[in-house]
Amino acid sequence: MSGAALLIDAVTVEFGSFRAIDALSLAIDYGEVRAIIGPNGAGKTTLLDVISGITRPKQGAVLFDDSTDITRASESEIARAGVRRKFQKPSVFEGLSVRQHIAIGAEAGYRRTLSESLLDERITEILEAIGLANVAQRSASELAHGQKQWLEIGMVLASNPKVLMLDEPVAGLTDEETERTATLVRSLRRPDRAIVVVEHDMDFVERISDRVTVLHEGKTLFEGSMANVRADERVVEVYLGR
Ligand code: ADP
Repeated sequence: MSGAALLIDAVTVEFGSFRAIDALSLAIDYGEVRAIIGPNGAGKTTLLDVISGITRPKQGAVLFDDSTDITRASESEIARAGVRRKFQKPSVFEGLSVRQHIAIGAEAGYRRTLSESLLDERITEILEAIGLANVAQRSASELAHGQKQWLEIGMVLASNPKVLMLDEPVAGLTDEETERTATLVRSLRRPDRAIVVVEHDMDFVERISDRVTVLHEGKTLFEGSMANVRADERVVEVYLGR
């Protein structure tokens, strides 16, 4: 698979008279991990909301998989097409085990197209990938904060997404948990998948991303590798500081 997983084409979002996204165009390719960074209020969450069908743009289009127009599709249609998101705050279902959580994600993604045994295999693979195989039978509400983040990544992953969006996956994690999350995210790269990560932790962003888009006032301020981002004077001025 090659080409754009997502094309954001001249998208504008307004809340009343306030323009949160301003004629933004952006291409995210299959195979890459793209970080979206920028100061508070830059429009990062709004961009994820537009892609996932929560917020409708005033103008412009969102294309998935090179040519499918998802601009006006519903949240559930977009999710079913394979564009999935892990929200910022982890929330688990009381009383369900870790494994049952992954099963929910897998059933949502495969919609009974896999046999019971293949689904089971898939669930086990995911549990191993997210490092929770040894606590699979435990109640998810007993997990540490970092483990809950991985569980949620696992739930999204279990649906076999084409586009995987992670909103602040290391917020509130310890250094060691952050390190493990970086290794996990890198391991999820695939030629037929795009990973989009909104995050403020720049060392984490540097470790995981192939390319970085810096948003500022709803527009792209800079796009490039994290090393180039750090060296760009405008980015330093509006976001990174000295
Ligand atoms: P970021 O995620 O980069 O911090 P957001 O996308 O959350 O930025 O917000 C961009 C701007 O849009 C902010 O100024 C925010 O206050 C505004 N905004 C976001 N959502 C709404 C909304 N539902 N109503 C009004 N203003 C909003």
